[in-house]
Amino acid sequence: MYDIRKTYSASSVSEALRLLLENDGATIISGGTDVMIRLKERKLKQAVLISIANITELKGIAVRENGDIAIGAGTTFDEIYRSEIIRECVPALAFAANQVGSPQIRHVATIGGNICNGAVSADGVPVLLAYDSCLEIAGVSGIRTQTLSGFHTGPGKVNLDQSSELLTTIVIPRAEYEGYFAAYYKFGQRNAMEIATLGCAVCLRLSADKKSIDELRIAVSVAAPTPLRCRKTEARLRGAPLTNQTIAALRKGVLSEVQPRDSWRASRQLRLQLAKELSERAFRQALETAGGEIV
Ligand SMILES: Cc1cc2nc3c(=O)[nH]c(=O)nc-3n(C[C@H](O)[C@H](O)[C@H](O)COP(=O)(O)OP(=O)(O)OC[C@H]3O[C@@H](n4cnc5c(N)ncnc54)[C@H](O)[C@@H]3O)c2cc1C
Repeated sequence: MYDIRKTYSASSVSEALRLLLENDGATIISGGTDVMIRLKERKLKQAVLISIANITELKGIAVRENGDIAIGAGTTFDEIYRSEIIRECVPALAFAANQVGSPQIRHVATIGGNICNGAVSADGVPVLLAYDSCLEIAGVSGIRTQTLSGFHTGPGKVNLDQSSELLTTIVIPRAEYEGYFAAYYKFGQRNAMEIATLGCAVCLRLSADKKSIDELRIAVSVAAPTPLRCRKTEARLRGAPLTNQTIAALRKGVLSEVQPRDSWRASRQLRLQLAKELSERAFRQALETAGGEIV
């Protein structure tokens, strides 16, 4: 059924990198929830799999000395959902983690796999984008850091050399989450085991008097070839008062930045409508959590 030539199980990042270099065309497998589908559909043939599921250094969530949150790429969505650190510091990420698949999927699916798979519908990505997260990627010449924004380069494509690199850590910098409040909305045709028709995360910081927007970030999935930040709308609404006009401008702005397409799952028209609705809902929820009020 599965066309697998050889499997390895790495016990450290350096061993995984060595195995990658020694095995041309090998595939990293973490939770396997995307890779196994590819194998089943015969998109991977004569596969050489390098499992990173037993690498302890890729697992877990910690707050670094400088206050940054570090999430190991091999951390499962269930672990993220249950993490006290995540629930306390970036609760929207716990919520998003709990939107993935089913309990069985969340027990094995990892955040690193979700990001590296490059799917435009990945539930882990919009909230992390809205928190301006960074990625730490290990390669032969050490660790390189890059922002999550820009990591996705096309449908199913990411800025990772799959023959020599491994995502090790997702970092949410302290400066990007402290004082910020976020919310994530996902629309699907059913409540569970559903890939997003469209998803939207909004992350904001209010002014000291809670009467205007100090900082705003809007991330939308399945609305372009890659997950998207609506940067023009973010810039336009910085300093805006908390009014219905601002919400109308948010809807209009998001609509002008997304470029969804028709697919068997939903029409472009439905996705345009969802982009407006979900961005407003996420904005209102983030605002409420931040203690702001529309006047
Ligand atoms: C029934 C079902 C329901 C699903 N529902 C959802 C859903 O609701 N929302 C959602 O977002 N996704 C969903 N998915 C997709 C999948 O579960 C997620 O994308 C998951 O997070 C992938 O993680 P994984 O550890 O299983 O990745 P894997 O399948 O192990 O790997 C995925 C890809 O990433 C690469 N990779 C993995 N880890 C690393 C790393 N550390 N460094 C470099 N490359 C790496 C692999 O080589 C592969 O190309 C679903 C899948 C199934 C089967």
